[in-house]
Amino acid sequence: MRLILLGPPGAGKGTQAQRLVEQHGIPQLSTGDMLRAAVQAGTEVGKRAKAVMDAGELVSDAIVNAIVAERIDQPDCAKGFILDGYPRTLVQADAVEAMLAERGIALDTVIELVVDDKALVGRIVKRAEDAKAAGQPVRKDDNPAVFEERLREYYKKTAPLTGYYYAKGKLKTVDGMASIDAVTAEIDKVLAAAAK
Ligand code: AMP
Repeated sequence: MRLILLGPPGAGKGTQAQRLVEQHGIPQLSTGDMLRAAVQAGTEVGKRAKAVMDAGELVSDAIVNAIVAERIDQPDCAKGFILDGYPRTLVQADAVEAMLAERGIALDTVIELVVDDKALVGRIVKRAEDAKAAGQPVRKDDNPAVFEERLREYYKKTAPLTGYYYAKGKLKTVDGMASIDAVTAEIDKVLAAAAK
């Protein structure tokens, strides 16, 4: 199964992706996680991405496309994968099409988690508080000021992807404001219907 989770920051893509990993035994490919790992490791990519990420802006298409192209060739992706936070621009969406076509594979479904913007800042603040309480590092971009920029980037560059995938007949929408379990159940239904 090859799946894309779409939705603004704080929509619950990461949470749902982790559940899908457990249920389906395929990896979650989060470009945000991969970039944070690169920053942490101090790689060339990490050095170039850090300031952009801290400002809540998008890292260049060339960088993220290269990271994903390399990642999907790893053996654990052979049965499929969940793309979380990628693609985020139309250029990336075209790139993923090309990557999959080159490998003779196709995208199964794109699921958009539809959420109310007003609830998102609260979710991000809570995520930062939870991380702190658990003794985990708090993401530098999980604060209201940077969040506003992330949301602006989402509407400018990522929201058009819903139209892109709708036109391809791949888009399914799920109410992301429901409880975590209810969202999981709805995603399960969508995937079961798509598999028929
Ligand atoms: P995320 O963890 O998905 O919220 O991503 C955190 C940050 O990483 C974003 O605000 C961007 O700066 C960067 N990033 C993650 N994925 C992408 C992507 N597909 N394209 C560009 N930048 C990305």
